[in-house]
Amino acid sequence: MVMGKFDAYKIDLKGMKDNTYSCEYVLDNHFFSDIDAPEVRSGNVHVALNVRKTAGIYEFTFEIDGVVQVVCDRCLDDMDQPVSSVDILKVKLGDDYLEDGDMVIIPEDEGEINVAWYIYEFIALDIPIKHVHEAGKCNKAMEGKLNQYLRTLADDENQDEDESDDSVTRDKVDPRWNELKKIIDNN
Ligand SMILES: [Zn+2]
Repeated sequence: MVMGKFDAYKIDLKGMKDNTYSCEYVLDNHFFSDIDAPEVRSGNVHVALNVRKTAGIYEFTFEIDGVVQVVCDRCLDDMDQPVSSVDILKVKLGDDYLEDGDMVIIPEDEGEINVAWYIYEFIALDIPIKHVHEAGKCNKAMEGKLNQYLRTLADDENQDEDESDDSVTRDKVDPRWNELKKIIDNN
């Protein structure tokens, strides 16, 4: 994470005047490209954050609602993935930084927490492990090529002759094809 880009996501716990605080975020493509994580590259997500302090614990409630773009497992094109969840994070001030389940301890002398990465993680966790376009919505050309490619690969594995040629071909393979094949093989 680059410093500065996520300043708006800092919550000043020590500076909280009341026992409640709320704010809203609209995450756009900039947010996802700035956070630079592999799973989600773009999207439009609304986040309503409510913080409530009781007995020294700050309970953060994130209401997340929107659409992100992820890569379709079947055709590798981008697809829209709706995300909608309510996530809770409990934050306490303490001596050292510590993360334990849904509880985070923030050093007292820091007194603030940046929630940008937590929000990203909640969104990423809301994406199903297997995500594909609705029936008929896949990139037909790509799907055809993939099927053809996977058949060729299966044929190659059955043939031991001409190994040097084979390894050259495989070196050129887009790593995503291999990832995809792994996913298919595991199903
Ligand atoms: Zn697809």
